[in-house]
Amino acid sequence: MNDSAADGAYGTEGTRQEAGLPGGAGDGTRAVRAGLPEPVKHEPTLPGPVFAAHFHLPGDPTGPYTYGRDENPTWTLLERAIGELEGPGRDDVETLVFASGMAAISSVLFSQLRAGDTVVLPSDGYQALPLVREQLESYGIEVRTAPTGQDAQLEVLDGARLLWIESPSNPGLDVCDIRRLVEAAHARGALVAVDNTLATPLGQRPLELGADFSVASGTKQLTGHGDILLGYVAGRDGEAMAAVRRWRKIVGAIAGPMEAWLAHRSIATLQLRVDRQNASALALAEALRGRPEVTGLRYPGLPDDPSHKIASRQMRRYGCVVSFTLPTRTHADRFLDALRLVDDATSFGGVRSTAERRGRWGGDAVPEGFIRISVGAEDPADLVADVLRALDESAH
Ligand SMILES: *Cc1c(COP(=O)(O)O)cnc(C)c1O
Repeated sequence: MNDSAADGAYGTEGTRQEAGLPGGAGDGTRAVRAGLPEPVKHEPTLPGPVFAAHFHLPGDPTGPYTYGRDENPTWTLLERAIGELEGPGRDDVETLVFASGMAAISSVLFSQLRAGDTVVLPSDGYQALPLVREQLESYGIEVRTAPTGQDAQLEVLDGARLLWIESPSNPGLDVCDIRRLVEAAHARGALVAVDNTLATPLGQRPLELGADFSVASGTKQLTGHGDILLGYVAGRDGEAMAAVRRWRKIVGAIAGPMEAWLAHRSIATLQLRVDRQNASALALAEALRGRPEVTGLRYPGLPDDPSHKIASRQMRRYGCVVSFTLPTRTHADRFLDALRLVDDATSFGGVRSTAERRGRWGGDAVPEGFIRISVGAEDPADLVADVLRALDESAH
């Protein structure tokens, strides 16, 4: 394949972005078409995965495709799809896919920070962040933490080089005012990254709220079937993204072509899944509200949730995760055992509902009876009935 053939099949020239999309197209239309090349006679709509460690490369070793750790045409299409969702209509957004969400997160932190720098992390974020913290500190980087709620990270921003936001936070579902934090961070010369895993780009677009990076695990609702690990970084700052790209090359935390292709295929149904799962999550949260044994119920879409006011300003959809606390650990275990339509499993965002007692991992600051439930694509009435029945059965 020579360069111009690659350009033809995969549109790497970059002028094709959102070609053929009517202005103001809705999220469903956008998701179905995201990243796809213009139709070519006798070609499939989504070109199949390209399995290649290296590409034919006579003469000068110029791109786009030289070696499989640097670039792959299947990534190109997926990166374009995610870029169209994270920054619709923008041509300053670059997206890079990774082997997992943690690979994407680490690529930003470790490519942007140097010894002597300070980074602000959420104290209530994803459970692997404490491991990342230890690693950063071992390299001489100062790590400060503050909770997501009430924009508490503002208090520890002075002198920081990078602010890491997770909103809504996982698993506590607190929300911070992203735009406000971005303004404060930028005023101090700090870059801002937002973990957008829980919201998905259909729920929230951090780059439009001013963030420099939107980073996510594609393992969760973006792909939604619980069968692949994937991550991505979408960014607006060319120089910063060049460093992230370089990090991917030197660490080699790359997505397999099959995973990238499956992810792209799954994005076509993103709006269907997100709308269904979010509506069911709200229905479930409302049903849980009336239960005396349930405390600490959180769902940013509930009008009286502490997060709702800010969430409704910066989010267009509130996610598929609901969290609450049952009185004891054994009560919570009985509840999980009694569920029939909800698997006891970690992760979230899949078409099959899952739930777990989050305290079993030991990494999150949550009560022993804390339950995180991820609402799937089952019929909402079936799901709500199953949860209420399991609560009845586990009451004694
Ligand atoms: C799962 C998750 C991650 C890590 O993603 P992996 O794909 O498992 O590496 C990061 N952030 C959040 C909020 C997550 O839920």
